[in-house]
Amino acid sequence: MQDIEACHCPFCGSTQNHLAEIEPSHGIVECEGCGAIGPAGATRTAAVAAWNRRVRARPYQLVGE
Ligand SMILES: [Zn+2]
Repeated sequence: MQDIEACHCPFCGSTQNHLAEIEPSHGIVECEGCGAIGPAGATRTAAVAAWNRRVRARPYQLVGE
């Protein structure tokens, strides 16, 4: 499978985001810096794409909103 690099974390700015498998057919990006978890995707690729879209759409967001 092709590896895709996720954008930096919109919460803490960490570039250490990694893709964590939550189910055999699902993926979700989790930030190793602050523990933020991105939108789950049907595939690892979709999870990364969803994370990257969120970063571009909402580069800064207060926790709890
Ligand atoms: Zn983070």
